[in-house]
Amino acid sequence: EDRVISSQMLSEDQTVEFSLRPRFLSEYIGQTRAKENLKIFIEAAKLRNEPLDHVLLYGPPGLGKTTLSNIIANEMGVGIRTTSGPAIERPGDLAAILTNLQEGDVLFIDEIHRLNRSVEEVLYPAMEDFALDIIIGKGPSARSVRLDLPKFTLVGATTRAGLLSSPLRDRFGVVSRLEYYTVEELSYIVTRAADLLDVQIVGDAAKEIALRSRGTPRVANRLLKRVRDFAQVVADGMITEEVAKSSLEQIQVDRLGLDHIDHKLLTTIIDNFKGGPVGLDTLAASIGEESNTIEDVYEPYLMQIGFLQRTPRGRMVTNAAYHHLGRSIPDESNV
Ligand code: ATP
Repeated sequence: EDRVISSQMLSEDQTVEFSLRPRFLSEYIGQTRAKENLKIFIEAAKLRNEPLDHVLLYGPPGLGKTTLSNIIANEMGVGIRTTSGPAIERPGDLAAILTNLQEGDVLFIDEIHRLNRSVEEVLYPAMEDFALDIIIGKGPSARSVRLDLPKFTLVGATTRAGLLSSPLRDRFGVVSRLEYYTVEELSYIVTRAADLLDVQIVGDAAKEIALRSRGTPRVANRLLKRVRDFAQVVADGMITEEVAKSSLEQIQVDRLGLDHIDHKLLTTIIDNFKGGPVGLDTLAASIGEESNTIEDVYEPYLMQIGFLQRTPRGRMVTNAAYHHLGRSIPDESNV
């Protein structure tokens, strides 16, 4: 099911994301620390006339890793080749990509933690020495030949840096963690996007959308698009705070960006398991979802906002969640 608050890329995002994607660091909102570091490294590399050191970007989906890799290429004035961990199946696939790069290019590998071992081993000498080691012949007469590659910058993106093998992680000179965006930053992103989409947005409407975007620009842009549809039908195209509020309520995204699935998960734990602790598999069975989906998709944001805790005995709903759902807390010593 496509959830409107999903941080994953949905098919409906494609055209809009392309047109809203910032192209230079100066247009990239938030992520101050990552941005300031990159700015210095990029300037230094340009002064030395060298490619930028390899960059690892990590953080939850939808925070702008792909956007940032494109910006790096734009700022360096070089081309970019984009691929992903699962798309590179064999060492030869990677060798083909590497030998086709132009001097200085950015190679962006999304989901880099999903590269397989044999492909990773091709990447080590490529990152370190811009070289490709190939084996010619078979058996006793086999020998290894080293080919020079064009110098390039590898930009790797991953949602979980911990899943990267340490030899790979160690070969990145720049490691940047992307953070969830603040409501102020998201309001700004919404305002900028409305401007680019040529929709009028007034008062605190941008903030109303930002509050419900789960810290994620991709979600903010998607909610803006939904609200715009409502505004066009009921309010002559103008997005006021009222229009934003009522349309977001209509699509069941609450003031903290929780949707009906989040509500179902929390109320199930509250109603069926007295607020927890309840084991993941039991919970999965009672809401009819896969354990993996609960763990990877539903829980991260609920934990991030402090509504859910993972304990050794299972999942527990916190007092803050009871409060948000307007439920009375059964037993104070419970949580
Ligand atoms: P994934 O990890 O799923 O690939 P991502 O982190 O690469 O996601 P992007 O595709 O880069 O996410 O970002 C999603 C959209 O959010 C972009 O198209 C852009 O419109 C918007 N966006 C992201 N970051 C920013 C930002 N800092 N300022 C303005 N808009 C942004």
